[in-house]
Amino acid sequence: MVRGIAYLFISRDIGVVAHIADRIAVMYRGAIVEEGPVEAVLAPPYHPYTQALLSAVPLLGQRGRVGVRLRLLGDVSTPAPARGCRFAHRCPARLGPVCEEEAPPMRPAAPGHAIACHRPMEELARAPHALLAAG
Ligand code: SF4
Repeated sequence: MVRGIAYLFISRDIGVVAHIADRIAVMYRGAIVEEGPVEAVLAPPYHPYTQALLSAVPLLGQRGRVGVRLRLLGDVSTPAPARGCRFAHRCPARLGPVCEEEAPPMRPAAPGHAIACHRPMEELARAPHALLAAG
């Protein structure tokens, strides 16, 4: 029976979120950087921050992490650029000035799935699948 109820569950552990949610919104410094159904967010293309989160989840790692652990640049105290992508100061996939000067728009990755990144969607799609990469 459909009851019309929605729950908002907030966690830093994307593995836990994936177990209980229908949709995931990945946020970095208060902005949504990727949003979509769980099965879409757990499959390429990924936002680089989503990929880093997935590569750090031990539970998913048992079945296959997203390739090698994706390490972020700097640390949490590294200041974000005044404008541009909020993740640019930590993004290992940073393209250069465009990332530091222009905020990336949310772009469709698939129906109902969107990613905010300047990298071409085809490039983001080349990341290994979080759940299918055999561990
Ligand atoms: S827009 Fe640039 S800095 Fe931001 S996530 Fe994409 S590649 Fe990384």
